[in-house]
Amino acid sequence: MTDIAVTLADKRGTLPPEDKLGFGKIFTDHMFVMDYATGKGWHNARIVPYGQIEISPAAMVLHYGQAIFEGMKAFRTADNRIVVYRPLDHLNRFNHSADILSIPQMDVNVLHDGLKKLIEIDKEWVPKSLGTSLYIRPFVISTDPFVGVKVADQYTVFIILSPVGAYYASGFKPVAIKVEEHFVRAVKGGLGEAKTPANYAASLKAAEVAKKEGYTQVLWLDALEQKYIEEVGTMNIFFKIDNEIITPALNGSILNGITRRSVLAVAKDWGMKVSERRISIEEVYEAHEQGRLQEVFGSGTAAVISPVGELSWKGRKITINNNEIGETSQKLFDYITDIQQGRVADKFGWTGEMAKL
Ligand SMILES: *Cc1c(COP(=O)(O)O)cnc(C)c1O
Repeated sequence: MTDIAVTLADKRGTLPPEDKLGFGKIFTDHMFVMDYATGKGWHNARIVPYGQIEISPAAMVLHYGQAIFEGMKAFRTADNRIVVYRPLDHLNRFNHSADILSIPQMDVNVLHDGLKKLIEIDKEWVPKSLGTSLYIRPFVISTDPFVGVKVADQYTVFIILSPVGAYYASGFKPVAIKVEEHFVRAVKGGLGEAKTPANYAASLKAAEVAKKEGYTQVLWLDALEQKYIEEVGTMNIFFKIDNEIITPALNGSILNGITRRSVLAVAKDWGMKVSERRISIEEVYEAHEQGRLQEVFGSGTAAVISPVGELSWKGRKITINNNEIGETSQKLFDYITDIQQGRVADKFGWTGEMAKL
């Protein structure tokens, strides 16, 4: 076990009613923190009471955005264990994002031990009703008080925890998505494969416009030709055409989603035909015209599976599967959430136990 100093909060908060949790507004009593300085490496791993942090107004992250984050979930199982879904996959991806942003690599074991200890201390905050979870948000910021442009010499990594309500509080139902034809999110050779605030900053305007037009999110096309499908920006995207599950291949500009990996593994395990390849929006519309497009769904930690009932591209709207949840979308959602919450055997070894109650 890593040496992690613990300072406990004087006063503990309490978990609000589980139907009032929402997403990302409530935080637990403690957080994990660790610092980096050039020459010293990562040091001073600690757990401290959750609270305000102080950084210089000149802190580099505020000016040039050298920062990364992760998002994963802990669940309370029926037999009173607390498990995190694919923690090492998330922490390894955190380091991949760090590499893309020139942030020094972290010891995944230290982060894992820190997370485990943090969850053990704050385990009363893990909600238990169906669909709820403890959202885990690790992030790194660059902190040098310096307004020149360079790779920073000082960083802090944090892990904060937020109990979240059921994503589908008003029911699991298909969403309407706008295929973006004006804005672009990320370009090959850029930051698209990193989980970094910059990619979200680049997506806000398009999301705002789409919302006004009545869509929940946008589907991004490739930045060069605006022809090939990339992802939704918080989710990867899947198409079921002629009983084949197709998702865009990883190409450097889309995120290598952990839920995407889970979907691919489960569908393969079920004996379905699965392809990761380049797929154009034209191909999707053509498949729809020919009656071969059966389902469209997104995959991501927050929603797990999000069925898409409508796509709109260049003003051409198509309705998918009668705007109803597809058979495969429903089956994947049920099975993956059953694994996460310990209702079926975890034959893939995806859940990591963090604490017992
Ligand atoms: C986090 C994220 C996803 C979903 O990835 P998961 O690991 O499945 O949560 C997809 N796209 C982007 C841009 C993301 O930031």
